[in-house]
Amino acid sequence: MVRPALLTGLTLCLLPVYSWATPPRVVADIAPLHSIVAQVMSGVGHPDLLVQPGASPHSYSLRPSEAEALAQAEVVFWISEDLSPWLESPLENLAGSAQKVQMLELSATIGHPFREGATFESHSHADEDHNEEHEEHDDGHDEHHHGEHDPHAWLDPVNGKAWADEIARVLSRVDPSNAETYLQNAQAFQDSLDKLTVSLSERADRLEGIRFIVFHDAYQYFERRFNLQAAGAIALSDASDPSPARIREIQTLVSELGVTCAFTEPQYNPGLVDTVFEGSKVNTIGVMDPLGADIKIGTGHYTELLNRLMASLELCRPQS
Ligand SMILES: [Zn+2]
Repeated sequence: MVRPALLTGLTLCLLPVYSWATPPRVVADIAPLHSIVAQVMSGVGHPDLLVQPGASPHSYSLRPSEAEALAQAEVVFWISEDLSPWLESPLENLAGSAQKVQMLELSATIGHPFREGATFESHSHADEDHNEEHEEHDDGHDEHHHGEHDPHAWLDPVNGKAWADEIARVLSRVDPSNAETYLQNAQAFQDSLDKLTVSLSERADRLEGIRFIVFHDAYQYFERRFNLQAAGAIALSDASDPSPARIREIQTLVSELGVTCAFTEPQYNPGLVDTVFEGSKVNTIGVMDPLGADIKIGTGHYTELLNRLMASLELCRPQS
């Protein structure tokens, strides 16, 4: 690499100064993915973020600065069209020449099918089921979503690890001069996620048997990884408003399963949660947020997000 000191004054005037050091323009759609990209790019540059903290990625309008970031992007990492269907057209129209990587489409990504219905009871409460032959009633009546997978896949740290790999690979191709840094950063991040996963698993073990309801069906990746299953969700995984029938179903669940807490989300109407659980003993003070709206954007965001999800569930721990 040529150092500025080696160039004559004249050459310097003719060259865009430090152009060789310009990091690639990289955009990520949501804060947790942005955090993983930021980790991989540490020491090289900073990615731009599209969906600002506190907003829902399920429906969003780009601000001019975000549209501009897309237009300038060389690489765009985004979760999937199922998470943010509105993003498809700006990706085509503004970021036409950028390389676009849809994380849910990667072969290394673990994908879970959408859950239907307001209640998720299944294998996890086999203990109270009267040993019937296992009844598999959910296949076959799957409604048609446009995609096959629940898009909230970043909440499984195993996906976080796989994505760091892929991000490092893609950036190394776009910016070979920093390839080594990207790969080392990805490796360091993966090591830290391994440690985090162990500590979260230990915390989860102490929460066995908690019964909780989430606001929108966003957490199955986290639930499955750590063996903590929500009893149900008020809204579907696309965060659309629940029907009155769904709300009644949730209310029934509370008494049947002994649900002790329900979580609100900062992106959505908390009044709805109060309405659903009015008059019950369900604790609704906890907040669970799949996007970490109030966590500082950047390298530390992703691990903090996973830590906080577990901390929220710990509020639900039965007092003994
Ligand atoms: Zn969601």
